[in-house]
Amino acid sequence: MVLAADRTLMSPYRGISLASFFGCAPALDFNRDHNSFWYYVLRNQVTPRVLFDFICNPIDHTNGVANYAPYGLRKVEAALLRDGYRQEDVVVSHPDHIEKFIGPETEVVGTYEMDPLGMGPVTMTFTYGRKQMSYDEFYNRELHMRINAAKARTGSKAKVIAGASGTWQYNYDPAKIEEYGLYGVVEGELGGIGPEIDGAGGRFFDAIIAGECDTANPFRKSQFKVEIKEFVRNDRTFHGRFIHYGYEPSVSEIPTIVNPSMHGMVEVMRGCGRGCKFCDVTLRPLRYYPVEKVQKEIEVNMKYGGLKNAWVHSDDIFVYGLNPRTTKNMQPNREALEELFKGIMATGIEHTNPTHGTLAGAIADERLIPNISKIIRASPDNHIGIQCGFETGSIRLIGKYADRKLAPYKPEEWHWVVKTAIKTLNENYWVPAFTLIMGLDNDETQEDSWETIRLLHELETEQPDSMFTTTPLTFVPIGLLEKSDFFDIGNTMDPGKLGVMYKTWQHNFKYGIKKFMGRVGRNNPIKDFFFTQLAATLGGVPLSAMEKFARRKGFEHEHAIEKIKAKYL
Ligand code: SF4
Repeated sequence: MVLAADRTLMSPYRGISLASFFGCAPALDFNRDHNSFWYYVLRNQVTPRVLFDFICNPIDHTNGVANYAPYGLRKVEAALLRDGYRQEDVVVSHPDHIEKFIGPETEVVGTYEMDPLGMGPVTMTFTYGRKQMSYDEFYNRELHMRINAAKARTGSKAKVIAGASGTWQYNYDPAKIEEYGLYGVVEGELGGIGPEIDGAGGRFFDAIIAGECDTANPFRKSQFKVEIKEFVRNDRTFHGRFIHYGYEPSVSEIPTIVNPSMHGMVEVMRGCGRGCKFCDVTLRPLRYYPVEKVQKEIEVNMKYGGLKNAWVHSDDIFVYGLNPRTTKNMQPNREALEELFKGIMATGIEHTNPTHGTLAGAIADERLIPNISKIIRASPDNHIGIQCGFETGSIRLIGKYADRKLAPYKPEEWHWVVKTAIKTLNENYWVPAFTLIMGLDNDETQEDSWETIRLLHELETEQPDSMFTTTPLTFVPIGLLEKSDFFDIGNTMDPGKLGVMYKTWQHNFKYGIKKFMGRVGRNNPIKDFFFTQLAATLGGVPLSAMEKFARRKGFEHEHAIEKIKAKYL
């Protein structure tokens, strides 16, 4: 069994966790004018590969075996070993050395894919709706080409299976299933959502090897339902074998990792009870790891990976330990959270931060953030980064699509929640990285967009020293909205949405990158170099590109930018 992931998912990103988004950056523009200056300098490259490869440095390996791997891949590895596969039969390969492990005896190659075709929200934004090829897609493609070449050279009949949360993308570009030679694509029961295959890792690989998934047979009793999908695209028909698995394992059925994860990631919960309509996490049942299980995984990372930090994966950390059905107004369970973070710090790590949390959860109990901050030793020299969904400044949209995200507050209180939460988080040395959704369910009006712009401007003027970044993402139809259409950034960018994009990047440039990122790079030449590059790439360049785009589009778009410059800068 060979498990693998491409370079963008197998890089320490020089120790800068924020940089792990860099895979979403555009790599190639196949439509670039051959007479242009940029074609002369960079050919088809958009973000120069030399810069990308420098930041996305390859992970260490031992004879081709990856020393660290994405957390989800580590879970599958742990499941195989738990379920009876021998250590010598399972390898987690470094992407640059995968050829070493593929031969006639290889049964299955399992690839872990989060954004295989560059259709994730961040990537779609950076590549103008996939008009350019992102590094996520570029390196995933390269991995599959290497696997195919190794199979051809050695006569291997290994079945290549794509798994993890990004496999839904193959439904939108099924030609890639053929091009990459995929035997199967793993999906959740309903499609879309990444299945929790780690609960049944051994059984799943047994079934693949035994050929049980070769044909679709609705009468066969199996946990793994095979569907041969047919897609017609531009007069061509493509087929893909999709393997559905819909069981959600209990915490005791979820294996504990046995080798170090990337970035020291450990999980503390699965699912989220808040029910935002645009999110597929919420379709999963809510489960929490007990503190001891979290500690065991951190200890694996410390002992075998020498890691000193724990990046705590959580869909909304402030939901940890509560029962959304019985807890009035989603009131956070402060005791459970304190116990969790005390347990994490008791392992001896130096730094921890949760991946995600809601703004409403952060302030629903006024002692919560101060108490956790003390436990995890947050300070001016130890900032706690957390990703929070800002989504929109529109009261109408937040009420319609994510009202429980605000609980215990009401949609009308959303602006107050945002402002108060930023203040509370910053005062306790937390820095939120906000994501916004552009074109939410293709239902965002220009008035909604201007409400977002005004809210951002109010934050900047009322709390000028506040620290936060904002990343606009284009709407992707997942979760309860999976039947909707993608937001088409190329053709549906009205002046209001262009304004949101301009305002968010202007904020990052002026208040985020220039003002605060410089501090991150101090005393460290590599970080300093990275953040200087990031400031130039993510800051100034997109702003001028948007101004140019507005000029091309005409008066209304230009007027939106001018209005922001005059009223909201
Ligand atoms: S709070 Fe976050 S994780 Fe939970 S349902 Fe909403 S978007 Fe999804």
